[in-house]
Amino acid sequence: MSITKNLQDIQEQLPENVTLVAVSKTKPVSDIMQAYKAGQRIFGENKIQDMVDKYEEMPKDIQWHMIGHVQRNKVKYIASFVTLIHGVENFKTLKEINKQAAKHDRIIDCLLQIKIASEDTKFGMSANEASEILQSEAFSELKNVNVVGVMGMATFTEDQEQIKREFSFLKNTFEDLKSQQTTNSNLQVISMGMSGDFKLAIQCGSTMVRVGSSIFGVRG
Ligand SMILES: *Cc1c(COP(=O)(O)O)cnc(C)c1O
Repeated sequence: MSITKNLQDIQEQLPENVTLVAVSKTKPVSDIMQAYKAGQRIFGENKIQDMVDKYEEMPKDIQWHMIGHVQRNKVKYIASFVTLIHGVENFKTLKEINKQAAKHDRIIDCLLQIKIASEDTKFGMSANEASEILQSEAFSELKNVNVVGVMGMATFTEDQEQIKREFSFLKNTFEDLKSQQTTNSNLQVISMGMSGDFKLAIQCGSTMVRVGSSIFGVRG
């Protein structure tokens, strides 16, 4: 199957309110251009250097989403152009994004990554930590970041009930945080669901899915 066809297949399965992030990590520009020519404009990368390289080479109307672990010392390389940073795991990272965004006179949209999986290897903060950040005075002073939602990754398992519980937990966390809305947070996005579980994620309230291998093929 071609990238164009795969993309159409996925798009057809998405309700109108769900945004597709085409996860292009490890894929060459030629593959990403096929998706671009089919109309896709939002791409997700998980390594800052790869995102920078692709940004420089590719059309400038692409919206680049950082979906991976954010290394604080590298935020400066994407601050001028990144559209959304999904993987904010702590306040220090928000502070660094704020600092780099200010240099470019931008406000960068961010998602707080919540740890919903049972595996120790997955990153993220607890629902309480997220709430504490949003309520804090230190956060209210960050004028160049806008927290627009939450992101989570479910456990890698065949157990659909477990995945469903984890996604539902993220949805509930989102609703809780939203009810505590503060000046520089405006929660609208629930980023959850990948190739294997995006349909379940949508049932559980996802508004943004991050799909890679179902579009571009398995990664080598
Ligand atoms: C790689 C990745 C995806 C996409 O995974 P697929 O299974 O290929 O769809 C989504 N989210 C994150 C954070 C990723 O690192």
